[in-house]
Amino acid sequence: MSTKRVAIIGAGVSGLTCGVVLRERRYEVEVLAETDTMETTSAVAAAIWYPYHVGDEADDAANAAVDVWARTSYRRFKSLSAHPKKTGVSMIDFHVVSRNYIPSPGWEVPRPRRLLDDELRQPYRSGFVVNVPVMETPIYLPYLIEMLGSKRIRRSETIEHLDDVDKKFQVIVNCCGIHGPRLSDNDQSLMRPGRGVIVYGKSTLDHAFLDADDDKKEGKLTYIVPRRENKDCVFGGSDDPVSNWDTETTPGERNAIVDRCKNIDPRLEAGEPRVGLRPLRAKGVRLGREEIDKRTVIHNYGHGGAGLTLSWGCAEDVADLVEEALRH
Ligand SMILES: Cc1cc2nc3c(=O)[nH]c(=O)nc-3n(C[C@H](O)[C@H](O)[C@H](O)COP(=O)(O)OP(=O)(O)OC[C@H]3O[C@@H](n4cnc5c(N)ncnc54)[C@H](O)[C@@H]3O)c2cc1C
Repeated sequence: MSTKRVAIIGAGVSGLTCGVVLRERRYEVEVLAETDTMETTSAVAAAIWYPYHVGDEADDAANAAVDVWARTSYRRFKSLSAHPKKTGVSMIDFHVVSRNYIPSPGWEVPRPRRLLDDELRQPYRSGFVVNVPVMETPIYLPYLIEMLGSKRIRRSETIEHLDDVDKKFQVIVNCCGIHGPRLSDNDQSLMRPGRGVIVYGKSTLDHAFLDADDDKKEGKLTYIVPRRENKDCVFGGSDDPVSNWDTETTPGERNAIVDRCKNIDPRLEAGEPRVGLRPLRAKGVRLGREEIDKRTVIHNYGHGGAGLTLSWGCAEDVADLVEEALRH
């Protein structure tokens, strides 16, 4: 039985989802985390399913892996959306629009449809709509904790070095988000924060919205994600193009987001802003195995702007690697 014990470091969406999948496969898991789940980047996410800003977009192999993880996660979220009150997951139409021509993604699942002319408002000239899950983090993250069993999470545990993890764990899963590289001996890929500001409030839209022409040089984004169960909305946003670790926000940043979103939803109500740091790893998600001090470490970090979107797919691959490590 002792060989079926796994320690997971990190209680954001990556660590919790890995915990749930490993429990489903009958492993005994313990999650060690520095911060409370509701204080993580995962809790700040708009949390709509969309494979946005994950590593090097020119890397075909990495993109293929992202597609598979996103599709696996989509299926799981879709089944969770059957019970939105309990899980906080529900399906919504997502309109992605441009002032120029924008191609539809070539996904089979979920399959996008072109927006018709009378569904596009000025100044937009093209776009697509795709039915996707929204994971309302105030409900969804506590739901994952309940699935895992809160007694399996040890909070306020900072792991400075792998020696800090009890030797009874032969396998350790590293889900430390932006701090993931600290627990590796050989990650040479640059990790930087993609600082993002969101504003909570209320929207009159019945669908989610993204302006695909967003100014990437300045890191200005415009998106709207209504949350049905929580009866509020996430207005976005930003994605700083250079490293910025500041977790405070200014009134200017908040007001600029509200103004951009008011062009789409003039009757919106805006509330408090919040900041999160996307774990942007230059080479994309690190999901793989490393042997350190005679123990197996399975890394699962660097999900950029898509940690929720990829969470179930990545967790299944992590569980496969755990199985392989404990077989030998
Ligand atoms: C503004 C914004 C909007 C976003 N919108 C979306 C979206 O719509 N859809 C989407 O899919 N994604 C979105 N994202 C991205 C998503 O939030 C991240 O990719 C995801 O949260 C990463 O999850 P994680 O569990 O890997 O890391 P985190 O949520 O950062 O969790 C890391 C965990 O590791 C712990 N930890 C770190 N170091 C240590 C240590 N040394 N010892 C112990 N514990 C440690 C932390 O305490 C924490 O529990 C958004 C991000 C931002 C900032």
